[in-house]
Amino acid sequence: MSNTLGKVYKDKVVVGYYEYYGTCDIVEPTIRKTAQEVYDLWRKPEYRKCTCGKPSEDVILYSDYGDGFHWSGTACLTCLVVVEGINGYDIDTTEGEPT
Ligand SMILES: [Zn+2]
Repeated sequence: MSNTLGKVYKDKVVVGYYEYYGTCDIVEPTIRKTAQEVYDLWRKPEYRKCTCGKPSEDVILYSDYGDGFHWSGTACLTCLVVVEGINGYDIDTTEGEPT
């Protein structure tokens, strides 16, 4: 309980998945290509960081924790890591999935 699947949206398309730690409102920054990969590595957080040095891209982060909500962040889609928006606690969120 309390950890849920998160999705990374870029231009309204899901480009990756991550694990959302609901008890502390934290995004595991490592983005996986499939939901199955997230479930296979469930509760084994990997705090990967961007190493390529390219500017990160605007993304929308979605968590299906509770009724589901999303917020703005940035990610490096080359290194597959969330850069900004990791701490969902003090960020303005919008209910539901991005539309
Ligand atoms: Zn990078």
